[in-house]
Amino acid sequence: MAEIDVHSTIINGKAFAAALVDRVTAASARLLEAHGVKPGLAVVIVGEDPASQIYVRNKGERTLAAGMRSDTHRLPETTSQDELLALIAALNADVGIHGILVQLPLPAGIDSSAVLDAIDPDKDVDGFHVVNAGRLAVGLPGLVPCTPLGSVMLLKDALGDLSGLNAVIVGRSNIVGKPMAQLLLAENCTVTIAHSRSRDLPAICRQADILVAAVGRPEMIRGDWIKPGAAVIDVGINRVPSADPVKAAEGKTRVVGDVAFTEALEVAGRITPVPGGVGPMTIACLLANTYVAACRAHDVTPESLDA
Ligand code: NAP
Repeated sequence: MAEIDVHSTIINGKAFAAALVDRVTAASARLLEAHGVKPGLAVVIVGEDPASQIYVRNKGERTLAAGMRSDTHRLPETTSQDELLALIAALNADVGIHGILVQLPLPAGIDSSAVLDAIDPDKDVDGFHVVNAGRLAVGLPGLVPCTPLGSVMLLKDALGDLSGLNAVIVGRSNIVGKPMAQLLLAENCTVTIAHSRSRDLPAICRQADILVAAVGRPEMIRGDWIKPGAAVIDVGINRVPSADPVKAAEGKTRVVGDVAFTEALEVAGRITPVPGGVGPMTIACLLANTYVAACRAHDVTPESLDA
């Protein structure tokens, strides 16, 4: 097999995300300067889940670092759905808040879809509201879920025009698989969505010029499922025992994607690593969505955030 230049093969999502955050920060500063508008993001967390607490703290710090207003609402585990809905209503009415994000999962007893649907769609920076899903499906401007949005940015940066390429997305969740399909369709790809009931998944994957893995199963997609030269976007984030047996015995873990990376690297034309690929794009796109929502709330045309 020909020697592969891994430096040009591996898509550096971390660097791309950092550059996007710089552009969002600069555009937000100009929005404040020219229009007196400081983008504001409110993050709501209910309960004490340690991983969620870390994510929320990180989002708050990143929002402030981008020169935006950041409000974090920490509610106790015992919060009722009505209390949470009352907070969402207050944030919907707050003119200084342009983006609202409710950290999932919510405690048992709270209906997540009722809460997400209570968010003003124009402040729904996660893009999960049914109105934004509908806007994406029919090609209207809306707010697009951050992970697929970031994934498509990486693909366009790596490949340029995506027209006519065969795209296979493994996974059909509302937050990754389905919006990813809509975005790639809008880029004129020929799109196939595969899932747990698909027959002969390896054969379907081998048709893909663009293969997107959004499954949540560690290293499920093997190297010989990949068409030589294909672009592989690994959305999966899976925590598995450390590769070092001694460390594994101590309970140490590592994060892997849905793609068997070492095998895939031998075959793929471009590939996102885990970590350092799609993951950093999610927070960068959250900030981008907050900037865009702030512009629209004040009838300002958002600046292009393209590289
Ligand atoms: P999800 O809601 O659990 O959906 C998983 C999808 O994979 C489902 O459509 C499921 O099919 C399909 N699937 C499961 N097992 C399969 C199999 N053996 N063969 C084929 N398809 C299979 O997950 P998600 O929220 O989309 O997340 C997917 C992964 O992305 C997770 O690892 C998650 O942690 C990660 N993620 C990363 C980011 C990021 O920032 N990078 C953001 C979001 C999610 P059915 O519909 O038939 O059940």
